[in-house]
Amino acid sequence: MSALDVSVQAQILNLLEEMKTRYGLTLIFIAHDLAVVKNVSDRVVVMYLGKICEVGSPDVIYDQPAHPYTRVLLDAIPVPDPSVRPEARAKVIGEIPSPVAPPSGCRFRTRCPKAQAKCADEEPQVREVSPGQFVACHFPLAAGETLPTRNGSGPLAT
Ligand code: SF4
Repeated sequence: MSALDVSVQAQILNLLEEMKTRYGLTLIFIAHDLAVVKNVSDRVVVMYLGKICEVGSPDVIYDQPAHPYTRVLLDAIPVPDPSVRPEARAKVIGEIPSPVAPPSGCRFRTRCPKAQAKCADEEPQVREVSPGQFVACHFPLAAGETLPTRNGSGPLAT
């Protein structure tokens, strides 16, 4: 989809929506464009290095993400507002590890600002943290909790 012209993208999305309604289909839509994902999905699954991080309705996931990776992804969505400074958005650290030799425990731990020793020792299992919201994280984000920003501010910055 990302290689397509925006108007062609819109036509294809409309076609998928029409097919879904007309034939009662369940579609799995895999994309990196989270703005589009929100518009077309009834349920969103966020994955990192082949593992599920978070599952829930678009409203819950986009308004109150509980997994740090989801938070970082959402903060990477471009905002068409010049008053929103990119530096004030959550940052991710490090490089993507090799999928051939992923980190132990939580696969996001080498890039996660909330990582602790437990994250290396134990793989987090998917569990329900609020009605309909499932997260694989030992230390999920609390309501309103933010991550360190690209300009170094934020409650977790050192
Ligand atoms: S389990 Fe640990 S490293 Fe993984 S996302 Fe949660 S806090 Fe971060």
